[in-house]
Amino acid sequence: MNKIYDVAIVGAGIVGLSTALKLQEQGKNVLVLDKEKSPGTHQSGRNSGVIHSGIYYKPQSFKSNLCIRGRELLIDFMNSESIPFRIEGKIVVDHDIEKITHLNNRAKELNMDGVRPLERNEILDLEPNCKFESALYVPQAGVVDYKVVTEKIAKKFETLGGTVKYFQKIKSIDSKNDLKILTSDKETFTSEYLINCAGLFSDTVALMDNIKPNLRIIPFRGEYFVLNQEKSHLVNNMIYPISDPNLPFLGIHLTKTVDGQIEAGPNAVLAFAKEGYKWSNINVFELSKTISYKGMWKLGKKYFGTGISEMYRSLNKRVFLKEILNYIPNVELKDLEPRVAGVRAQAVSSNGDLIDDFVFEEGDNSLHVLNAPSPAATASLAIGEYIAEKIN
Ligand SMILES: Cc1cc2nc3c(=O)[nH]c(=O)nc-3n(C[C@H](O)[C@H](O)[C@H](O)COP(=O)(O)OP(=O)(O)OC[C@H]3O[C@@H](n4cnc5c(N)ncnc54)[C@H](O)[C@@H]3O)c2cc1C
Repeated sequence: MNKIYDVAIVGAGIVGLSTALKLQEQGKNVLVLDKEKSPGTHQSGRNSGVIHSGIYYKPQSFKSNLCIRGRELLIDFMNSESIPFRIEGKIVVDHDIEKITHLNNRAKELNMDGVRPLERNEILDLEPNCKFESALYVPQAGVVDYKVVTEKIAKKFETLGGTVKYFQKIKSIDSKNDLKILTSDKETFTSEYLINCAGLFSDTVALMDNIKPNLRIIPFRGEYFVLNQEKSHLVNNMIYPISDPNLPFLGIHLTKTVDGQIEAGPNAVLAFAKEGYKWSNINVFELSKTISYKGMWKLGKKYFGTGISEMYRSLNKRVFLKEILNYIPNVELKDLEPRVAGVRAQAVSSNGDLIDDFVFEEGDNSLHVLNAPSPAATASLAIGEYIAEKIN
C-alpha cells in the first residue's frame, strides 16, 4: 500500500509551499505535488516582486490581516535565509487629495508607522522625476524576487523532512475511508487531508474534490515593460497609483526591482488560456469555459469599456508609454523592452464581481484556497500559518 501522508498539497507555488512549511514545522508529514518541474513556475515566479505594506486592503479582511502579518514573517524568513531584498518605501500618487487623505487615514487605523502625505518638494526629494503634486509616502513597501523566496521555502520544507514531487499533474481526487486518494498522470498518492493551492486551476481542483464554489478563476494577463539602462535613473524606488476598489489590479506602476531594473506594468488583459502568457497562447477548452461562464458575461457588461482599453493598451505600446508618461517624463518608445508576463488567478463570482478578498473553502478533510491574488506572495507565510492553525 502507498505511504499515507498527513497532508497532501496540490501546488508548489509560494502559497502551497508556505502552507507545507508551516504544517511540517508542526510535525506533520506533508507531501506537495506540482505538475511543473520546479517551484514557483506560474504566478509565484511571474509577478511584480513587491513586498506590500497592507495599506490598500479593507481593515480586518483576510488580505489586510494576512498581508501585514505575512510581511513580518517574510522579512524574518528573508533575513534568516540571506535572500536579497530592499525595503525603501513607495510613493502612492493621485491628483485627488481626498483619496490620499483617505489612504492616510487607513494607515492610521492600521497603526502603520511613518506613513505621511507629501508636499511637492518632498515628492521631489524622493522621486525627482515624478510629475504628481500629491502623494503618500509608505515606508513599509519593498521589493524581492519571489521566485527565489519560493525556492528557499521549498528547500527549507524539504530540509525539515517534507516531500515535493514535480511532474505530477493531479487529474482526480477520491475520498475513501476518510482518506484522500490523489491520482496524477503517473501515480497515486494517499493522505488524510488535502489542501488545494493550485492557483489558476484551484477551481478545477476544487471540483475534483466535489466542491462547487460559487466562483470561477478567470486568467488576467499582466504585461510589463522594462526601461532601458539609460533611463533607469528616472525612478528611485516605486511610484504607485491608488487603485479602484472595484478593479483592484488596474493601473500600472513603476518599480525598481531588486536587481535595479525599472519595470512598468502590469496591465490586465483577459488571457485566452489559464497559462496564457502571450496573445498567441490559446486553449480552446479553457477559453470556451471562460466565455460561457455567466459571471464573465456580467463582468464584461459592467466593465466592457475598461476591458477594451486594457486590450488596446496591450496591443499598442504607445498607449502603454502614454501611461508611463503620466508619472515621469523623458521616456520614449525605444526605451521600453518587454519583460515576461504573468497571469493572475482572479476569482469572479457568478454575479460578475471580481472577488477582492482571499477565499478559503473547507470540504470533507480538505481545504481549498480559491482566491489568492496579490498580495498573496507577501502574505504567503501568514496564509500558511493561518491554514496550519485552522486544520490543527
Ligand atoms: C502579474 C502579477 C503581479 C503580481 N504582483 C505581486 C506583488 O508584487 N506582490 C505580491 O505580494 N503578490 C503579487 N502577485 C500575486 C502573487 O504572485 C500570487 O498571489 C501568488 O504567487 C499566488 O501563489 P500560489 O501559490 O497561490 O499560485 P501559483 O504560484 O500560481 O502556484 C500554483 C501551482 O499549482 C500548480 N498546479 C495547478 N494545477 C495543478 C494540478 N492539477 N496538479 C498539480 N499542480 C497543479 C501550478 O503548476 C502552480 O505551480 C502578482 C501576481 C501576478 C500574476
